[in-house]
Amino acid sequence: MVVTNDNSCSWINDLNPRTNIKSISSNEECDWLIIGAGYTGLSAARKLAQIDSNLKIILVDAQLAGEGASGRNSGYLVDTTLNDGFTSNKELQNYKKKADIYSLGIDVVKKFIKEYQVDCDWNESGKYFASSKIEDKKILDNFSNTLFKLGFEHSILGNKELSERLGTYFYNIGLYTKGGILLHPGKLVRAMVDVLPSNVFFV
Ligand SMILES: Cc1cc2nc3c(=O)[nH]c(=O)nc-3n(C[C@H](O)[C@H](O)[C@H](O)COP(=O)(O)OP(=O)(O)OC[C@H]3O[C@@H](n4cnc5c(N)ncnc54)[C@H](O)[C@@H]3O)c2cc1C
Repeated sequence: MVVTNDNSCSWINDLNPRTNIKSISSNEECDWLIIGAGYTGLSAARKLAQIDSNLKIILVDAQLAGEGASGRNSGYLVDTTLNDGFTSNKELQNYKKKADIYSLGIDVVKKFIKEYQVDCDWNESGKYFASSKIEDKKILDNFSNTLFKLGFEHSILGNKELSERLGTYFYNIGLYTKGGILLHPGKLVRAMVDVLPSNVFFV
């Protein structure tokens, strides 16, 4: 099977063309067959290969590895997600569990890029939830209340502060959380392809 890049994604077009594409042309046996070479399949393949270098792992994808959603997303590692306020402790605790998973995810990516010296435009910019409609302040106040209860550092910003930070007067109200990261998803996923151990066969 021949797979090619469709050239429609700017993130991927930023990268050098792949030189390590492998394709399978005959029947093969393996210990593990992984279908789908996005963040999930690439992480699973790397981890399995590290656990036992004698394992033969085949990673297949209908397109080039990493060129699905993992190489084409918006590049945010989120620390929080917007909600318009919780009324019960159970909801609050569930939100906390999700936020703990986001935090773990950010730590894992940080560890990966440090270990393999990956340049993926890592930017600790924080995250803005912003709106042009001043009436959305109510939603952000409720969100702020949730974040306050969980001890998340954040601030509510008005039009002037937002324009100074974002370079546009469009937004009238916003909430900023400190822990969000912005990165180049194409560079991250390409690095995940490039560091696969030699006992992983992939496209
Ligand atoms: C527009 C957009 C913006 C996003 N922005 C963000 C963001 O800012 N932050 C964030 O955290 N997440 C974001 N996401 C979500 C994020 O991209 C996905 O959660 C992530 O890529 C999922 O990784 P994955 O490896 O599970 O799946 P994928 O990256 O989708 O990989 C699955 C792979 O499996 C292959 N495949 C599927 N079926 C088959 C088959 N039958 N045979 C062979 N191959 C197959 C596909 O070709 C694909 O390469 C965004 C997603 C989109 C679409």
